Amino acid sequence: MKQLTNEYLNEAIEDCRPYAVNGNVNTSLPNFDDTLRDKLGVSIMTTDQSVYSAGNSTHCVPMQSTAKIIALMLALHDFGKERVFQTVGMEPTDEMFNSIGAIESHDKVKPFNPMVNAGAIVVCSLIKGGNNDNRFDRYLRFLKQMTNNNELAMDESVYQAEIANGARNRSLAYFMQSTGALIFDVEAALDLYFRINAVMMCCEDFSRVGLLLARDGVDPGGERLIPPHHLRTVKAIMMTSGMYNSSGEYAVDAGFPCKSGVSGSIIGVVSGRMGIGIVGPAIDKKGNSTAGGALIKKLSRDLKLNMFRTE
Ligand code: GLN
Repeated sequence: MKQLTNEYLNEAIEDCRPYAVNGNVNTSLPNFDDTLRDKLGVSIMTTDQSVYSAGNSTHCVPMQSTAKIIALMLALHDFGKERVFQTVGMEPTDEMFNSIGAIESHDKVKPFNPMVNAGAIVVCSLIKGGNNDNRFDRYLRFLKQMTNNNELAMDESVYQAEIANGARNRSLAYFMQSTGALIFDVEAALDLYFRINAVMMCCEDFSRVGLLLARDGVDPGGERLIPPHHLRTVKAIMMTSGMYNSSGEYAVDAGFPCKSGVSGSIIGVVSGRMGIGIVGPAIDKKGNSTAGGALIKKLSRDLKLNMFRTE
C-alpha cells in the first residue's frame, strides 16, 4: 500500500494526465476550450483534517452534476426519504444522463434516479424556500457550510449558458409535466437546476464535500449537517448512479461512492477516511472525466480504498 503524501499525489497526477487524450472538453461551458484538456488537479482531505493537493488543484470549474447530491440532501431534509422517492426512483440506468427515452419508457413514470438530469430537476422542484432566490440561497448557504468556504458563488455567465443551452433539460421537464412526474412549477424547477449547476468550486471545495460525507455528516466544527439516515441514502445513490451509466464500472474499480459533473469534476467519499476532489475537464462520452476517472481508480488501488477489497 502506498502512503498518501503530496509527492505520491504529484506522481499519480502525472501518471493519469495522459488519459485526457481519450476525452473532450465540454465547450458549451463558458471559458472551456481545448487548452483545458491537460489540466488535472486533486485535493484529498482526511478525517484528521490533513490536506493533500497536487496538479491544477486551484483551477475552479462549475459544479455541474456534482450539484445533484447537494440538491438531494436538501430535498431529503425538506420532505424525507419516502416522499422524495415517491417522486424520483432509486435505480441505476444504462441510459445517458440526459436521456429522453428513459423517462418515456420507464413504466413507473418517475425518472430513474436523482443523479440523471430528469431526476435532479424533479428533486429541485421539491426544495423548499417559497421563491427561487430563497431556494438557491438555502442551497448556497448549505454548500458554504459544508465546504467552509464563504466565497462560493454562482458564475453568471455559466448560468446564462445553462439557460441558453437548456433545450434538452426543458424538454425533459415539460415531458415530465405531461406525464405527471413533475407536478410543481416547471420553470422554477429548471431555473433552480440551472443555478446550482453554475456554482464554481475548486478541488479543495469538492474534497470538503466528500469529507463531510466521509465524516457521517459532521463538519470539522463538530456540527451535524446531515442526519446519518439521509447520508446513507445519498452515499448509496452515489455508489449506484453517481458516475452515470459507468457507475457499475466505478463500483467495481473504485469501490467507494463518487459523483461526477461534465465540467470534469469528481467528488469521492471514502467513509471514515477521506474526501476526494478532482478536476480534469476532458470527459468521455458518458460525461465522466477521463483522467479524473483514471485517478479515482488509481487512488483506490494504491491506497486500498475499495470497500469490497479482500486483501
Ligand atoms: N449542465 C449539464 C446538463 O444539465 C449538467 C449535466 C452533467 O454534469 N452531466 O446537461
